[in-house]
Amino acid sequence: MAYDANNIFARILRGEVPAHRVHEDEQTVAFMDVMPQADGHTLVLPKAPVENLFELDDEMAAAVMHTVRRVAAAVKTAFDADGITLMQFNGPAAGQTVFHFHMHILPRHADRPLRGHGRTMADQALLAEHARRIRAALDAGG
Ligand code: AMP
Repeated sequence: MAYDANNIFARILRGEVPAHRVHEDEQTVAFMDVMPQADGHTLVLPKAPVENLFELDDEMAAAVMHTVRRVAAAVKTAFDADGITLMQFNGPAAGQTVFHFHMHILPRHADRPLRGHGRTMADQALLAEHARRIRAALDAGG
């Protein structure tokens, strides 16, 4: 399948659709998932137009994981999480719904199950507050 330049993440990357960003560098961006499966659910994506894992080159993969490690540490701190789950889907059969490569960062607490995937829109003010907490943790060094 050819990369769809109008997928929602491509539009966020172009600034056409708003997102609660927590991190941006030359190669990657991280922002809040609008239908979080846990409070603090954050997405990390490469800026390059790649649909899935099989189209990432080694340099992009390294850049994405570099950002994932930093942002995951900040999410863990910001949400006082017991652990972090990473998720990543390739192809509709695997559950992928947005066809621009991305990693999910999910803060986990021992007593809290995850909410459903892409089910319930979060309040925008709450997402803004969660993004602020993660940025503060990043600024403090993770
Ligand atoms: P996936 O199934 O891995 O492709 O997941 C796509 C994710 O993107 C889901 O968790 C959605 O909640 C999330 N999502 C969809 N639209 C937006 C948006 N406009 N901003 C942030 N996250 C989004």
